[in-house]
Amino acid sequence: MVDRAAHLSCAKCGACTVVCPVYRVDPRESLTARGKMHLLSLPFAGEPSRHFQNIFSQCLLCGACEQACSRNLPITTLIAGARARFPQFYGPHSLQKTVVRKVLAHPGLLAKLVRAGISLRRICALPARSGLRLKLGLLEAPVTELPEGENFQKKKPGKALSYFPGCLARYLQPSIARATGRLAGIAGYGLHLPAGAGCCGLAARAAGKEDEARELAWNNILAFAEGSGPILTSCASCSSHLARYPELFAGDSERLLKAREFAGRVVEFSAFFLGQPELRPKSKQKQKVFYHDPCHLRHSAAGRENPRRLIDRIANVERVEPLSGPKCCGQGGLFHLGYPEMSAAIFRQCAEDGLECDPDLVVTTCSGCLMQWQQGRIEHDLPVEVLHLAVLLADCLACSGPAREEKNLFQPLWPAKKS
Ligand code: SF4
Ligand code: SF4
Repeated sequence: MVDRAAHLSCAKCGACTVVCPVYRVDPRESLTARGKMHLLSLPFAGEPSRHFQNIFSQCLLCGACEQACSRNLPITTLIAGARARFPQFYGPHSLQKTVVRKVLAHPGLLAKLVRAGISLRRICALPARSGLRLKLGLLEAPVTELPEGENFQKKKPGKALSYFPGCLARYLQPSIARATGRLAGIAGYGLHLPAGAGCCGLAARAAGKEDEARELAWNNILAFAEGSGPILTSCASCSSHLARYPELFAGDSERLLKAREFAGRVVEFSAFFLGQPELRPKSKQKQKVFYHDPCHLRHSAAGRENPRRLIDRIANVERVEPLSGPKCCGQGGLFHLGYPEMSAAIFRQCAEDGLECDPDLVVTTCSGCLMQWQQGRIEHDLPVEVLHLAVLLADCLACSGPAREEKNLFQPLWPAKKS
């Protein structure tokens, strides 16, 4: 249970200021976690002012401040909690963000839009340089979303492994899901996408819409309830949010139990495949790879090390690291829609650092980071390829032989349940 008065414990030490990507591009005290904790400590009633909303909206919820905080304050939860009091979605592009969040929260609608080839730009007039406009422009052709009800023939039975692809891999870049399926197949697993699984709800929670986030979480808990084994995720942000589902059900003992069971089954992509010795990838040619750390992984030792160790297993690949260490890419879920200039400035710093070691490839495992890098690569004509780690691994296995023998293995194990 999060202590909503925790902001009162802020020591004003300032450790959070030096790590904040927003403060780095716009050094105003109000934009730091310390500034926000101070604002939360002031008495006020009624609807928050536009200025207040603007300040609390300018946060990526990246968690860097939380990691640095000398008082272990639940800063991101407090910021999301403050947003819950906003009358509608926050920021200068509130309508667009509301539409986008609603679409993400209703995968059926997203699927229909994708199938119909309807650009969200047409329904909510997204700014020309918005990330989502490009996101839809990055649809793979032909679009082959992963259908819940379709059986993929398997050559040989594998151990059942539940899969949570997230919206990007499921609807917009299914090559990620297919690559994950191929890797799982080589490791001896049949990958299953349960009917009824939907958006993880991170966007809703970041917006402070706890009821909506709870509803989406419960929907997923039910969708995966028939199984008991691991739930593999190929998106770092989704996996971190799925693992935090118990926080959403703190006051409901029955659902809390189910949420804990569910969270205990969630396995992040790199951690899972690191434990599969059958994977012996080899790149066709020598290449330098820069791994971009998703914020949702990089604040734990395992989250930092697992993807690097997995990349180091690829023969012919040299992993390169900038001297300055990992940086946030500036995507921040819907942040890049609300504050495109700030998001772009944060990305520029991140890309300059990443590219200083002259990589051929940028890989990551987070949907948001991947989109941000893909968009940045096109906008700035960056001399790199940008891939999800699953796609790189599957390509490297394909060129070393056995992966080509494996078929994509998706099967619905169970029908959707109603709550
Ligand atoms: S979560 Fe990230 S962007 Fe937000 S205040 Fe903390 S460090 Fe800054
Ligand atoms: S690091 Fe934590 S305790 Fe220190 S100023 Fe920031 S929010 Fe306050």
